[in-house]
Amino acid sequence: MEVITTRHALREYAARHSQKIGFVPTMGYLHEGHLSLVERAKAQNEKVVVSIFVNPTQFNDPKDFEKYPVDEAHDKELLERAGVDLLFMPSRGNIFSEGNPTIRIQYPHLMDKLCGEKRAGHFEGVLLIVHNLFMWLNPARAYFGLKDYQQYLLVQKMARDLEFTTEIVGCPLLREKDGLAMSSRNVRLSSAGRQQAVGISQALFSSRSVFQETQSVRAAADALRQELAQFEVEYATLSNAETLETLEEGTPLPKKILIAVAVFVDGVRLIDNVLVVPHAISI
Ligand code: AMP
Repeated sequence: MEVITTRHALREYAARHSQKIGFVPTMGYLHEGHLSLVERAKAQNEKVVVSIFVNPTQFNDPKDFEKYPVDEAHDKELLERAGVDLLFMPSRGNIFSEGNPTIRIQYPHLMDKLCGEKRAGHFEGVLLIVHNLFMWLNPARAYFGLKDYQQYLLVQKMARDLEFTTEIVGCPLLREKDGLAMSSRNVRLSSAGRQQAVGISQALFSSRSVFQETQSVRAAADALRQELAQFEVEYATLSNAETLETLEEGTPLPKKILIAVAVFVDGVRLIDNVLVVPHAISI
């Protein structure tokens, strides 16, 4: 595996391989969830490029940024073993030439909901870095986990609107055996917190079952909130999976529903979600 650290080297690589590249952007501290994206990329492309960059512009809490786990040696070993061709590991100074740019790509009605509501600037930071990475590398396909569903939706919209030729591939959310969504942040949980965190996916699964049985948004939302009572909750909602609008009882059901939560355990912010398709109404 080749390792590079400058965007100039990335552009050179792109010029040589361009349309054969499958790209997996990450913030490192890799786990099986990340590796599942790499596997998918390997199956569909001649070359696989992974980036590791803890992007400061998407953290609105500097403490959260400082505490983000890092293990470069282990990450390199995992990627080498997974058969990745190129690892792009820029330093902060190497990614933006003159400090953090102030240009913004915005989708106000998607960015002000769920993970965006309490984290002003988060998704602008994500889209800016993804935009630049796409511009430098111009991959044929880029792989994003549905664990970060809102991020996936926004990247897909940006790629379409700015006419990137990159196909955005959404990949299934991987869980630990007990249901906890895999996340680089899980390492920061105490053992009691780790046990408590199982309740997050359990709440989502219960809410989904209630919805499947009753087709009632209110019943599913009540079940979700009840089961999350033990947590400090940032949000816990049923939304239209395309517009991210919160669903209200009695309004027409969308094609797909996103049940999504963000909670704090041991002061660590964890997110998770499930998708559910309402029954078709036959007329
Ligand atoms: P991150 O390093 O957390 O920014 O994640 C990099 C990519 O891996 C994103 O597209 C995430 O959605 C994806 N990812 C993170 N955790 C998981 C998971 N548990 N299952 C599937 N994809 C994941």
